[in-house]
Amino acid sequence: MRFGFSILYVLLIIALMICAFFAFKTKKAIGKSVFHLCAALIFPVAGNLMIIASGNEMVSTIGAYIYYLGMDLTMSALMKFTHDYCGVDKRYNSLRLNTNIIIAMDAVQLLMNPFFHHAFSLTPIDVDGFPYYKLVPYTGQSIHRVVDYTVFLSVLIIFLFKFFRSPRISSERYSVILLTMCFVGLWSTFYIFAGTPIDTSMVGYAIFGIMIFYFALYYRPMRLLDRMLAGVASQMPEALYFFDGTGRCIWANRQGAKFMNVRNESYDSVTDQLIRVFDDIGEDEDRWSSRKTIGVGETTKYYVLERQSLNDVHNKVAGSFLSIRDVTKEEKALRVEKYNATHDNLTDLYTKEYLYECTARMIGEHPGENFLIAFINVTDFKIINDIYGSDFGDFVLKKIASYIMETMPEDSVYGRMGGDKFGICIAEREFDEAKIEKSLSDFVVSDGVNRHNILLHMGVYEVSEPDLDPSIMYDRAHMALSVIKNEYQRRISYYDDKMRDSVIWSQRLSSQLEDAIALKHVVPYIQPILNTEGKIVGGEALVRWIHPEYGFLAPDMFVPVFEKNGMIAELDRYMWRCACEILARWKKEGKDLFISINISPKDFYFMNVNEEILKITSAYDIEPRKLRIEITETIMMTDVSNRLKNLMKLRDDGFIVEMDDFGSGYSSLNLLKDMPVDVLKIDMAFLKQSKENIKTQKILHNIIKMSDDLGIVPLTEGVETIEQYRMLSEMGCKLFQGYYFSKPLPLEEFEKYAYDNLLNN
Ligand code: C2E
Ligand code: CA
Ligand code: CA
Repeated sequence: MRFGFSILYVLLIIALMICAFFAFKTKKAIGKSVFHLCAALIFPVAGNLMIIASGNEMVSTIGAYIYYLGMDLTMSALMKFTHDYCGVDKRYNSLRLNTNIIIAMDAVQLLMNPFFHHAFSLTPIDVDGFPYYKLVPYTGQSIHRVVDYTVFLSVLIIFLFKFFRSPRISSERYSVILLTMCFVGLWSTFYIFAGTPIDTSMVGYAIFGIMIFYFALYYRPMRLLDRMLAGVASQMPEALYFFDGTGRCIWANRQGAKFMNVRNESYDSVTDQLIRVFDDIGEDEDRWSSRKTIGVGETTKYYVLERQSLNDVHNKVAGSFLSIRDVTKEEKALRVEKYNATHDNLTDLYTKEYLYECTARMIGEHPGENFLIAFINVTDFKIINDIYGSDFGDFVLKKIASYIMETMPEDSVYGRMGGDKFGICIAEREFDEAKIEKSLSDFVVSDGVNRHNILLHMGVYEVSEPDLDPSIMYDRAHMALSVIKNEYQRRISYYDDKMRDSVIWSQRLSSQLEDAIALKHVVPYIQPILNTEGKIVGGEALVRWIHPEYGFLAPDMFVPVFEKNGMIAELDRYMWRCACEILARWKKEGKDLFISINISPKDFYFMNVNEEILKITSAYDIEPRKLRIEITETIMMTDVSNRLKNLMKLRDDGFIVEMDDFGSGYSSLNLLKDMPVDVLKIDMAFLKQSKENIKTQKILHNIIKMSDDLGIVPLTEGVETIEQYRMLSEMGCKLFQGYYFSKPLPLEEFEKYAYDNLLNN
């Protein structure tokens, strides 16, 4: 028996040494105190081993001391371990110190035994046929026992306290160690009372050390982990379902249970239910995810499903879990956001950008099909807005949107390009030109009181290059519009390459204007204006561009271009300055002639015309009446009241205002009576278009007479023959301008003409 125990103790010592070694090496915080405990436990076991194995009094005596002192050391280490493991508050550190002092005193007391023989002695008995030095206890040993048991008991209390005070799920941490301790405590108590010669409780102590080593460092309380995971899983917003290898649901978190109406943890029907709701839950896949839409209309719900299989250590599928996330809120917000980003909020049609996107997609997806790009524009929408207010303007736009929705075939795409412009992409075979032309002409909007004819035009580009950027396609359709902009007869016009050339032309000229002005390639020509006596009284400044590449350019080649893009303001400002420069020189030379300058209606959009003209005349110190202002009645097309104010102000400042091109445009005689003008320029060229000469004469006569009556000086331009001159004179016309007298001339030639004319008169 002694031999067997000796071997066992040796093995236990080796085991404790291994534990101490790994505890020392570990990086875990508790490692150090576990090391101390395992190392300390080696001593009592080794001491006992010496007693059991030797049979020698001397060795047994040393063994007994090692045993007793080792127990003290163990108790101190156990105390330290308990404090660390249970996280005992630092406040109790002094308690530990006191305990250690008591243990130390006990050790001292034991070490006094050789002198006082008060603790124990050894007495040989026969065990297994050779002497065994059994410990005979005295008072000192009893003190030692009391100390050790007290420490042990206090440790037990700390653990018990912890066990009961911790939340249920973490109490397992303490319970396993508590159980081990109770077991060892009982074992050693049993030994005391059993009176067996060999202290078998040492086996218990050693096992205790090994168990502490395992529980403190390596054991993961699975029950705790399970609960923690379940707790975490239930905190998650997703519904989670766990399945075993056969696909049967074995657990669901709180959300998951609620979602599938699981009661009393019976998960058997969950799999079937999930399949009923979602059709597919990715059962056969290792990793699977899918977006699902459930229901329709307002109550539609959106879910994201993700499934993943879980493998065991042998890489075999042990089960899987499915997470279901309700993304309805995000999805709906996203849809609203997308809708807003892709739809115009007034008309609910697509925005320009989205229309481009849809157009590209539609053309790309139908390679064999011919498509048309249409561009609809409201002529004079600005006037509608100005006259009837922007609410009515919005109403008109909405009506146009519904008109497009109703007229265009279902598979066409359309949108609002911004302002009063709409775009459509439509398959050519579905484009019924006659029908659309008619519906465009018939377009009326009624606000309940009045019916308004809205002038709609459509430019069309036949998609000949399907790879073109949609913005260019719509630009081309837009370009086609410009040809018929103000026509009532034609409502649809098609893009051709000439239009593109004209755009290129416009761009080229626009980019060159600034340099051309600086280099004086743009110059004023002056056309003489004469009175009834044939005497020159002034001239009209007309712009010419002597282009180094394209040669002599008349204003119709570039004025409309600049009127469109606003550069006209730059050009006119320059022309007015030229006129003032010339007038300033004439003033010095004593020439009493005026110069008429042209003002484009567009100038009013891009500058303060009154201010500009005043600034220039005062800079050159010109008498205002020497600079005559030519305006056309088209300036009255928009912002009538402000324009009237502008004209009135010009006259107040001393300028002479001339109404240009009377007889072309609308020529409202009614308008004339309210217009603050001094001179009426009647356009002969226009009147000549009518075949019946008698009628023309009558009209001319009446206009001249009427303007005279209104106190407005009549001037006829476009006079080409002596007969016309005579006739107009007889009718009472006061001033004349036309090729009969002279074409517009370069400044030098004009001055020569004027010199000769004045010489002859
Ligand atoms: P407009 O102001 O009506 O100018 C008169 C036009 O009639 C000039 O054409 C002139 O050359 C032409 N003309 C003069 N006498 C006769 C004639 O007996 N028979 C015929 N058939 N035509 C005659 P032009 O110079 O080509 O100018 C055309 C238009 O360009 C001008 O019409 C004017 O509206 C515009 N324009 C010219 N210069 C300027 C300018 O500096 N600024 C602005 N904004 N527009 C200008
Ligand atoms: Ca003019
Ligand atoms: Ca004119």
